[in-house]
Amino acid sequence: MTTISLLRTIASMALFGAWLLAGCASTVDVTKYKNNICEVHQLVMTVHEVECVSGNSCYMPDFRSAMHEQFPHHGRRRYSEDHFVLHARRLRDYVCPECTKAYEDWVARNPRKVASQGSAAAHANAQ
Ligand SMILES: [Zn+2]
Repeated sequence: MTTISLLRTIASMALFGAWLLAGCASTVDVTKYKNNICEVHQLVMTVHEVECVSGNSCYMPDFRSAMHEQFPHHGRRRYSEDHFVLHARRLRDYVCPECTKAYEDWVARNPRKVASQGSAAAHANAQ
């Protein structure tokens, strides 16, 4: 291994480590490269910090499907892996007020189809 390739390997490992640490930060900004117009409701969204827990909504297929179709930018609890971060306690993201209303309506109608506490993975394991 040449010195240059060794340095490239070390630099790659450092970048990967920085990415991991960013995912572990308490608040992660995920607004970069996103549009501030809700594609469902055609409203201008505002930036908010929203609660985030570890997990992935893929373990709740009904919720995930409804989220993508009806409330992709809700302002309630999010799952970190849906945003490609390993773990974050809070996300700084665009929030649409109509998405938040749609989320609350859907959760009220489907209380057993969304994790009440902890991660989505923990919810899936409990079923
Ligand atoms: Zn919306």
